[in-house]
Amino acid sequence: MEGVSQPSTSTVWHNIIVTGAIIEDMHLSFKSSFVKTIGDGESTSFWQEHWIGNDKLCNVFPRLYRLETNKTASIKDRISLSGSNGVQVHPWSWVRGLFGRAAGDRERLELLLSSFEFYGTAADSWSWAYASNGLFSVKKLSTLIDEQYLFQFSSNPETILNNIVPKKIEIFIWRTLKKWILVRVELDKRGIDLHSVRCPLCDDDIESVDHSVIFCKHAMEVWDRVFKWWNQGNFSSFSLAELLIDDGANSISPFGKKIWQALRWICAYLLWKNRNNKVFYDKYWTAQVTLNEIQVKSFEWLNSR
Ligand SMILES: [Zn+2]
Repeated sequence: MEGVSQPSTSTVWHNIIVTGAIIEDMHLSFKSSFVKTIGDGESTSFWQEHWIGNDKLCNVFPRLYRLETNKTASIKDRISLSGSNGVQVHPWSWVRGLFGRAAGDRERLELLLSSFEFYGTAADSWSWAYASNGLFSVKKLSTLIDEQYLFQFSSNPETILNNIVPKKIEIFIWRTLKKWILVRVELDKRGIDLHSVRCPLCDDDIESVDHSVIFCKHAMEVWDRVFKWWNQGNFSSFSLAELLIDDGANSISPFGKKIWQALRWICAYLLWKNRNNKVFYDKYWTAQVTLNEIQVKSFEWLNSR
């Protein structure tokens, strides 16, 4: 994919693709959430699309499909309504007469079709199963994703909590530890075609969760400042678990440890926010501005406790 310097369209598509990947991760099926409603049957393939029963008719009735003269026939080509009481009739077109098992298959197929209420009016249309009005919306989709994250987060016994920070940060940290934040390497694993899997901030290495949160030189500059500000010596951390869970500091009180952990969580959260600002809006904070932002946010959240 070349020419990524067109933020409007590429950002929209990127968001849609990423959202699709998140949804599949959440075990919500994105593809099957779009349901086709049959109107006049003109734009839906009788054999090759799934519109009745458990599977496409070409898979359920392979013998009949082989004998069909027009494999791409629409529903309208194979079902019509006859007379004032609208009885279903089937204008079949086979390469030869049906007998034996094929004739039996046709009977079964006709039985299945008789269960289908075909009105022959209006156009075939798509609707989205996750919205009550059937209309797809990105806003509804992101609410759904947030609800799923919250549900999985709350029902997971291994969840680590720190009530100093807002819930959205607790959830972010949980996702980070599970490597559920969609850095480029993770998107690539999901088969999403990106122009590069390298870090969008430094371009020095591939963008993994560990790189993005710890090892990127931009992240390390910020961590350095945070560690110095909190009097924790030089920053040295080699794993996400060590950085985000382990309290490390032995000389401080339990409440002090909790605050120190909250600060590291806020730092990780804002590093990721900064990374997204770079990817989506092509702007980002310097290390010093990021530190200021961490300080402002942590005072704000501590005060609201
Ligand atoms: Zn980097």
